[in-house]
Amino acid sequence: MACLLLHTAIMMMQQTLKNIIEFRGVGLHTGREVNARIVPSCGDSGITFFRRDLPGAPAIRAVSSNVISTSYATTLGSRGATVSTIEHLMAAFYGMGVDNAIVELDGPEVPILDGSATGFVGMIESAGLVHLSSPRRYMVVKKPIKVIEDDKYIFLLPSDGSGLSINYSIDFAHPFLAKQSFSRPFSRDVFRKELGSARTFGFLKDVEMMRANGLAKGGSLENAIVISDTEILNEGGLRYPDEFVRHKVLDLMGDIALVGAPLIGNIVAYRSGHALNHRLAQEIWRKPGKWEFMESLSWDDGIHAPAPVLMEKMASL
Ligand SMILES: [Zn+2]
Repeated sequence: MACLLLHTAIMMMQQTLKNIIEFRGVGLHTGREVNARIVPSCGDSGITFFRRDLPGAPAIRAVSSNVISTSYATTLGSRGATVSTIEHLMAAFYGMGVDNAIVELDGPEVPILDGSATGFVGMIESAGLVHLSSPRRYMVVKKPIKVIEDDKYIFLLPSDGSGLSINYSIDFAHPFLAKQSFSRPFSRDVFRKELGSARTFGFLKDVEMMRANGLAKGGSLENAIVISDTEILNEGGLRYPDEFVRHKVLDLMGDIALVGAPLIGNIVAYRSGHALNHRLAQEIWRKPGKWEFMESLSWDDGIHAPAPVLMEKMASL
């Protein structure tokens, strides 16, 4: 009986929101004002978007097989309905441990807010989380999965630890973006304190080109870092000296969230972006022999240990 109680107490269960979240904001690329509502959902249902402005309010499941574009943002599509710039909200769900939720929108794009995930994190914390009766299933990486394109790559490697660790480097030909790295074990605290508030960024010289192509219509210094050849145009400067690489990690978490299960392994990435991140998510599902599902036990919030690891630790106590 004691074992059963202990097991029940520390089994990591799936989570959803305790209360509904409502917010409104402009889409980065469409420039359209969108009303959004995030509603609690049942175990094993995952994240699903609903386009309330379209006839029949079509559903679009947030899974990598529904990705239809990775150009400047990640866009999902299903049966003609699309939803774009989902990555910062998806990163917040992954980072804060929201396994299941319904996201209702009355437009084609998730509001960009301040260009980071910090608004989503705050709203999730205010709404609160509840445990569901379904155990969380982790994907434990057993063999390397690698995606390489020219000098860019992203690897998902087995780990001898009990969670996900990230080692991400960028090196762009620009003085503000040369050689930045982010290397940490991933946890809810790391997400909240070190990644969530890192903003999206763009180059001043690209803004006209993007607008000519119908993009960045809602972009401003209020929701993006804008960089010229020599300076950062935002009055307050950067939130972190290495805010750029932190935002790239935030994007990665949003794209990896579309795999549909938290990962246990090491991610090593160099100059990756939405397209390569998405290819990794696809590759994970194409290579089922390289990982296995495991229901997990948890030491505390954000630090997860697969059952055998925890049982070993318990046995040694
Ligand atoms: Zn982003």
